[in-house]
Amino acid sequence: QTERKIIENSIRDIKDFPQPGIVFKDITTLLNDKEAYGVLMNHLYHRYKEYNLDYIAGIDARGFIFGAALAQMLGIGFVPIRKKGKLPYTTISEKYSLEYGVDEIEVHIDAFSAQKDAKVLVIDDLIATGGTANAAATLVNQSGAQCVECCFIIGLSFLDGVKNLKEKTQVYSVIEV
Ligand code: 5GP
Repeated sequence: QTERKIIENSIRDIKDFPQPGIVFKDITTLLNDKEAYGVLMNHLYHRYKEYNLDYIAGIDARGFIFGAALAQMLGIGFVPIRKKGKLPYTTISEKYSLEYGVDEIEVHIDAFSAQKDAKVLVIDDLIATGGTANAAATLVNQSGAQCVECCFIIGLSFLDGVKNLKEKTQVYSVIEV
């Protein structure tokens, strides 16, 4: 089996979650499978070890799981980008639109300041419309750092998320469905 097949086969489809008509990609079964989780993290490590990154920024909440593990493998720091109201210190925030309504994410104002022009990889489990990742990349760039790429375990290719995000930064999805 190829690496991508092992990863793809470990992800479960949940019909009608969180709403009727939606097929949710469940990555808990990937995390639960030590071979698949290992293959994935090894794949990410080999891709990003030559990037000379300064930080990994993970998106709340599943981006933390992959991002924190990858940051440790690369020997660099990890920055959480969180839903509004969760971070304790001064933040900068960015709103983005959802199918119905708006949401907001934020990051600590000094998160990347230890390194001048820090090179940052933004990571999340999945890109759909790209709204969340776009706001995350904006926050990184507004912090005086540079979002060099956005990485996803799963890219949903029937939406325009990847195409739109590519106007702002490089985009990489491990698997596309
Ligand atoms: P977007 O902003 O690209 O429309 O939505 C992406 C965000 O919603 C990500 O933070 C992702 O975790 C979450 N998300 C949306 N749909 C799914 C799904 O089917 N599976 C998982 N695991 N996350 C999803």
